[in-house]
Amino acid sequence: MQPAQEFGDNPVEVRETGHYTEEYVPSFVEKWDSLIDWEKRAESEGNFFIDLLRKWGVKSVLDVATGTGFHSVALLSAGFETVSADGSAEMLARAFENGQKQGGHILRVVQADWRWLNRDVHGEYDAIVCLGNSFTHLFSERDRRKALAEFYAMLKHDGILILDQRNYDAMLDDGYTSKHQYYYCGDDVIVEPEYVDEGLCRMRYSFPDSSMYYLNMFPLRKDYTRRLMSDVGFQRIETYGDFQHTYRREQPDFFVHVAEKE
Ligand code: SAM
Repeated sequence: MQPAQEFGDNPVEVRETGHYTEEYVPSFVEKWDSLIDWEKRAESEGNFFIDLLRKWGVKSVLDVATGTGFHSVALLSAGFETVSADGSAEMLARAFENGQKQGGHILRVVQADWRWLNRDVHGEYDAIVCLGNSFTHLFSERDRRKALAEFYAMLKHDGILILDQRNYDAMLDDGYTSKHQYYYCGDDVIVEPEYVDEGLCRMRYSFPDSSMYYLNMFPLRKDYTRRLMSDVGFQRIETYGDFQHTYRREQPDFFVHVAEKE
């Protein structure tokens, strides 16, 4: 029996940083990964990050939100020295397999929660990437500050942090008009907010076989994320708009922050 997602009697009350390991159950991860075409995703976003890293003269990268390995594999294929970290053992196992399948890469994987990153991952890096709307899993400001401080400490003096996030401002401010469905892979996976308040965005992922999965996330406002980065010591933060393969609207669906340590 595979473990099911567990949100208890009142799912909108689940607002805990550590809950992510229980949300990414194997059946969800498998489904997601088999439906999201890596090639299509690479076409729409891959070069954006690779170009950015090249522009900065980056050689070594720590992918702190490896997930199933999409970015780590792209980074290795592009010639970057890459270490792949994630707090979920499930994710890392899948990423390792994907690395071997996609181009015969042997991923250097480390299981590590961002809050204690320096304890488990060693070395200093030219860049840290935290992509795929991952930072949103942190539910308290203390955890967010702690994680950013850990990222900061693991960068070389002139290193950069690249962190992306969903555009939650639009969702919080414009109410239902912006709560549109996001279609991935044509109509195969529909992602939509089921519940939103200032402290929670609960997303529903509907698959073609009628199965549904959920993620509870903290709706980060863009300027708040930028302010936190600056508070922990990042000197300059540039924020880009959309690069994503979601439905185009006036508002970008995603933001990408590039924060410079020096
Ligand atoms: N970057 C990948 C992508 O775009 O496909 C994965 C994104 S997935 C939405 C978020 C990942 O962040 C998950 O693999 C999860 O295990 C990881 N994660 C969430 N909170 C974490 C934490 N506190 N420490 C370490 N990893 C965490």
